[in-house]
Amino acid sequence: MTLDFPHRRYNALTGEWVLVSPHRAQRPWLGQVERLPPEDLPDYDPACYLCPGNARAGGARNPLYSGPFVFDNDFAALKPEAPAASPPESALFRSEPEPGLCRVICFSPRHDLTLPQLSQTAVEQVLATWLAETRDLAARDFIHYVQVFENKGAQMGASNPHPHSQVWASQHVLNEPAKELRTQAAYQAQHGRCLLCDYVGAETHSRTRVVTQNAVAVALVPYWAVWPFEVLVVLRRHVAALTDLTESEVSGLAELLRRVTTRYDNLFEMSFPYSLGFHPAPVDGQAYPTWHLHAHFYPPLLRSATVRKFMVGYELLAMPQRDLTPEQAAERLRSLSDVHYRAR
Ligand SMILES: [Zn+2]
Ligand SMILES: [Zn+2]
Ligand SMILES: [Zn+2]
Repeated sequence: MTLDFPHRRYNALTGEWVLVSPHRAQRPWLGQVERLPPEDLPDYDPACYLCPGNARAGGARNPLYSGPFVFDNDFAALKPEAPAASPPESALFRSEPEPGLCRVICFSPRHDLTLPQLSQTAVEQVLATWLAETRDLAARDFIHYVQVFENKGAQMGASNPHPHSQVWASQHVLNEPAKELRTQAAYQAQHGRCLLCDYVGAETHSRTRVVTQNAVAVALVPYWAVWPFEVLVVLRRHVAALTDLTESEVSGLAELLRRVTTRYDNLFEMSFPYSLGFHPAPVDGQAYPTWHLHAHFYPPLLRSATVRKFMVGYELLAMPQRDLTPEQAAERLRSLSDVHYRAR
C-alpha cells in the first residue's frame, strides 16, 4: 500500500486508529501563533516557588537543596485519605473514591536548566529519584499505579518554568495504561511473544522511524504516532518497571533521554515543549509478565516554534489525525545533532 494517500494506521499499543493525511502538510496556516518561551532565564529566581530556599504557596519553605528535590504537591489532585467505597447507586451514576499521592520533583536547584541542558550525572540523579519515588509509593497497600511525568513549557500547561516533574500515585490503574495492558496481554496470547519486544525488533531492523538508540533503549517515532514529533522510548530488555533497571541501564536511559530532548530543542532552536511520561506495569501485587516498560514524549509543535497542533473537532469527535508522516518526522529528528544548539 502506498502511504502517500490518506490512510489510517493501527496503534498496536492502544488498539485505536489514527488518520494520516500526508498531502495536507502544505496547507497555509492562518491560525494561532504561539509565543516563544524566553531564551534566557536566571539560574535563581527569587519569585520562583521551586527554587532553593524560597517559600512555596502552601507556606512551606524549600531547603537549600543541591540535587533533585521532592515534596508533596501543595495542591495535590489526589489525597491519601478517602471514604470507604460504597456500591454504585445506579449504572448511570457511578463514582469511586480515588486515594493517592502527588509529589513534585525538581530536577536540580538550577531554575534555568532543562533535561537536555543538565549533565549526564544530573539526569541520572533525576532518573534515580523517579525510581526511588516509584519504589516508595508502590510499597503502599492502596497504591496500584505510579505515573511519573513532566509537562515542559507553558504550552503543555507547566505552571512554573523551573524544570520539574511530577509523580501521581493512585489506587486504580489509569485509562491509558489499562488500554496498553489489554493490548499487550492480547498480543502475547495470540503470538506467544511480547508486543513491544517484537515492535522494537521490527523498527530497529527497518530503521525508518528510529530517531536514536544505544545499548539500553531505542527512541523512535511510532508507526501510529498522533503528535507531529511524538517519540516512544522503549527499553531493549524486557523489564516491567523503572525499579527493575540496573545502574548501567539507568545511565543508558539517561543518555538517551538527553539525546532525544537535545534533538527536540535543536529542531526549531528553542526550548521545545512536551509532555513526557513513563508507563510501567501496575503495582497491585499481581505479576505482569506481558508488560514492557516504555516512555512517551507528546510534543505539541507542528511546523515551527510558533505553530502547534490542535486536538479539536475531528480529534475530539472522531479520531486523531496527522499531516506530517511519522517517517518524515523521524527523518528530521534523526538528522539533528546531539549537541545542544545553545552549547555550540
Ligand atoms: Zn526556580
Ligand atoms: Zn518485551
Ligand atoms: Zn504507554
